[in-house]
Amino acid sequence: MASDTKPDCLFCKIIRKEIPAEIVFEDDTVLAFRDIAPKAPTHVLVIPKRHVDRLSDTTRADEPLLGNLVAGVTEVARKLDLDDYRVVVNNGAGAGQVVFHIHVHLMAGRHFKWPAG
Ligand code: AMP
Repeated sequence: MASDTKPDCLFCKIIRKEIPAEIVFEDDTVLAFRDIAPKAPTHVLVIPKRHVDRLSDTTRADEPLLGNLVAGVTEVARKLDLDDYRVVVNNGAGAGQVVFHIHVHLMAGRHFKWPAG
């Protein structure tokens, strides 16, 4: 799985355990860890173990990766006993993406406005 990572990617370094993170869930396909600057009382990032820059780089051929990613989100939510939660993917710098390795924000524990800002 490490061969699917990118050497200089921050989240790939977390996957390879080169930099620390508070991991809440891990399997062969995904890793979930607490956001270092949480925007909600619970804020977990769920990432695929294979490096892909952003959601819009995926195609139908990536259905297993995308399915595992969403299944990982629900697994984390169950594990943390979350009921109401918000799931966000920022795709591209204009949408707020800062780390270019696909990640799903799983946030809970406060009221969320709609539409999202
Ligand atoms: P985005 O803006 O969608 O790219 O989200 C990137 C997220 O990664 C932000 O919420 C950051 O707080 C978070 N982040 C950056 N570095 C780390 C790190 N070393 N460990 C955990 N979360 C991080």
